[in-house]
Amino acid sequence: MKKTLAILAFIATSALAQQSDDADYTKQILQFTTDPRFMTEIVDHLPASATIPTPLKFNGYIAGAEGHLTYAEDVYRYMRALEAASPRVKVFSIGKSEEGREMMLVAVSSEANIAKLDRYREITRLLADPRKIPDDQARALIAEGRPMYYATGAMHSPETGSPEMLMELAYRLAVEETPRIQSIRDNVITLITPVLEVDGRDRMVDLWHYREKNPSVPTPPLIYWGHYVAHDNNRDNLGLVLNLSRNVMQAYFDFHPQVLHDLHESVPFIYISTGTGPYNPSLDPLMIDEWHRMAYHEVDELTRRGLPGAWTHGFYDGWAPNYMFWIGMGHNTIGRFYETFGNRWPTTENRIVRAASDRAWYRPNPPLPQVRWSLRNNINYQQSALLFALSDMAANRQRFLEQFWMLGKRAVGKAQSEGPAAWVFDGAQKRQGQLRDLMQLLRRHGVEVHVTDQPYTIPSVVAGASPAPPKPAGEAPAATPKKPPQAITFPKGTYIVRMDQPYSRLADAMLDIQYVRSDERVYDDTGWTLGYLKNVDFKRVTSGDVLKVPMHLWDNTATTTAPAENNADIDYIRQYWSNPKSPRPRIALMHTWQRTQDEGWYRLALESLGVPYTYISTQDASRTPNLRERFDVILFPPSGVNSPQELVNGYPPGPPLPWRKTALTPNLGGVDETDDMRPGLGLSGVQNVQRFVEDGGLLITARDTSTWAIEYGLARWVDTVAPNKLKSPGTIIAATVMDKKSPIAAGYDETIPVYYSGAPIFKVGVREDADRETRPSGRGGKNDPDVPQGRAYVPLPEKPKPGPGEEGFLMPEDAPYNFEPYMPRAEDRPRVIVAFAKNADQLLMSGMLEGGDEIAGKPLVVLSPRGRGNILLFANNPMWRANTQGNYALVMNAIMNWDRLR
Ligand SMILES: [Zn+2]
Repeated sequence: MKKTLAILAFIATSALAQQSDDADYTKQILQFTTDPRFMTEIVDHLPASATIPTPLKFNGYIAGAEGHLTYAEDVYRYMRALEAASPRVKVFSIGKSEEGREMMLVAVSSEANIAKLDRYREITRLLADPRKIPDDQARALIAEGRPMYYATGAMHSPETGSPEMLMELAYRLAVEETPRIQSIRDNVITLITPVLEVDGRDRMVDLWHYREKNPSVPTPPLIYWGHYVAHDNNRDNLGLVLNLSRNVMQAYFDFHPQVLHDLHESVPFIYISTGTGPYNPSLDPLMIDEWHRMAYHEVDELTRRGLPGAWTHGFYDGWAPNYMFWIGMGHNTIGRFYETFGNRWPTTENRIVRAASDRAWYRPNPPLPQVRWSLRNNINYQQSALLFALSDMAANRQRFLEQFWMLGKRAVGKAQSEGPAAWVFDGAQKRQGQLRDLMQLLRRHGVEVHVTDQPYTIPSVVAGASPAPPKPAGEAPAATPKKPPQAITFPKGTYIVRMDQPYSRLADAMLDIQYVRSDERVYDDTGWTLGYLKNVDFKRVTSGDVLKVPMHLWDNTATTTAPAENNADIDYIRQYWSNPKSPRPRIALMHTWQRTQDEGWYRLALESLGVPYTYISTQDASRTPNLRERFDVILFPPSGVNSPQELVNGYPPGPPLPWRKTALTPNLGGVDETDDMRPGLGLSGVQNVQRFVEDGGLLITARDTSTWAIEYGLARWVDTVAPNKLKSPGTIIAATVMDKKSPIAAGYDETIPVYYSGAPIFKVGVREDADRETRPSGRGGKNDPDVPQGRAYVPLPEKPKPGPGEEGFLMPEDAPYNFEPYMPRAEDRPRVIVAFAKNADQLLMSGMLEGGDEIAGKPLVVLSPRGRGNILLFANNPMWRANTQGNYALVMNAIMNWDRLR
């Protein structure tokens, strides 16, 4: 019987090998490829079909044709046409973007596999949780199942090739009858989300149409990608607040694929992810090994075919778990990505490569130093490499399923082997809103959260401290405390995150404390410990006894409606804004037309708290002389522009850069619009904002907008200091409340963990307070008095110690009258509300810190009065990527008390 089948299969293969190519399509593939070196035999043709439309037939152009990009909606129409014409294709709608555009998942496999898709989904779902199936059942499922490979495109909107490529790939997988494609089809279920950031994709295609119609003027830059953020849409896997993250997460749990592969475009010609390290310490070594095995397989297949510039290792690190492909990695699925060489526009360009064309140990076959490059070249690389990956999965069908199950099994074993046993969150702690939000977030990630049914005492070794007091810099989080640990009792209702569950590694990656050596090169944030960023108390428990405490799975139904008592809790803020009796200040959130990403996270933060606001641009501020009439508070989030001068001046003079919804650009707008993006805040805007403050308004700035407020003289007697050796690349730092009476700090403990990324450093005062060594060279030591010879010694007078609010504002003792005109009145002086911890050794809470002495004790949050109003300056970013809820109250307390801050 077996033999007969084999013969039949052979006959079928030979018969179908006669399948002819679509001549026109194939001709155009060759036409748009600039050099045969950028081609492989697996994408140099497209097979013809009498019944199934090619992208050329459907759209009027091939994938990668000069001058053509496809709107998301048209990509979907094509995928649905494939589904209608082929039993090998099935389309799923997986949700909507913030602006209501659809997100899609396309499954392609053999007709038999598609018919049994529900069964294969059940198999991967069962394999995902090894606790629930005996090993022999797992082995039977592995033998029966089909692994799934999930490829996603167009996360980053200027990276335009992948949706085009994925249409052609779907067609090829559905139609082609070569042994390679047949094997993929029979053994693998390929899942495709052709466009992740659908709002941004459509705006990008609009801009291409604008550019085609207006070839002689600059094209407006893509200021808005998604509704809220740009490139950071790939940094939402800790917070999960963007629709694309949530939709892909849901799609993930609907299929449990074994590989999740995100397609990006930047460096030449193809970088296949492995990363330089440091790798995230929570990941299973088997996962990391697999990155390398898969990457080298594809590098090898491309290189042996003579394609230049296929490489791995030397780009990205592997550290932070905030990338979208951690939806896979956090759930025992191999997460990976490509960077292929993209031209942004669908045009053929002469490109200079320079540094990336250097040969290196990880790049023995480097890209060419200069090249004529087309969209089709990009697609050839992307599609060929992806097909090699799919072939590899087809050839190792059972291996991928077994590996997936094994990674889950080893994650369940974590509590017993490497530990910890659990993460414990005191159920009675004071910031219940943040605590509940963190537990809900874990659940959204698929992590199980339990609640204790009775009080529980941790008898012995406990590490991983609560925010106060911070641990000494450099001390490993699991180090045994020097003092004998004290027993801690937790009440009934305490949350337990058990480490004997399949997603224990993800929980560990989110909750543990990070340490990054200061000589490492990191690609993104170095520390993100969520217990710190949410300002909740947490404990890392290593003793397995914790798992024996009576507990039940938390189902998130028992939510409290009790009035929140802690002002530094998001429950308190939410209750204030939902209470119709609260005197609500009128808030403007101000953005520039140069960059909107950071303020996008502020919009998300305010909306998550139920806070209404008016969205204005710096151009609006420049045209509104009486801002005070309209607003009580102006919130000016970090702008990301290069300098305060650029913020004021805007873009260089030239033809207008319109950002507006028109017939040609129907997808621009929707967030904000302007006829010309070029003008900045202008000096009139500076003046209007200053008048707003003097008339009693509150201006809140952070990072570079604080620097702007200082340099343009709005905030007086505050200065910035250039860092010297400081390295704090997205680090959690300990800060201290300085003004306990200020309503801004209400609800906070003495120590506040803050996210800080290197600049600015503030200095408050009217003049330098000489703190340097002053004694002359002489006898004795540094602290000995200097004794002139030949007379009786007269000691130096005691230096006056500055009282509260006096630091930097003490009159010089030698000639105070010289200083009188320059000394601000007490009520005009800036007040330090929060400062960095005074002791440099206690600054680092999580991540990397070097040169901490440059910020130790320096002001972090400063209230600068002006006229009848105030400017609140943050040196850090208190509303970052939907992770820093523990800092939200610093902003919101100020807003809610805007007219009584002094
Ligand atoms: Zn990208």
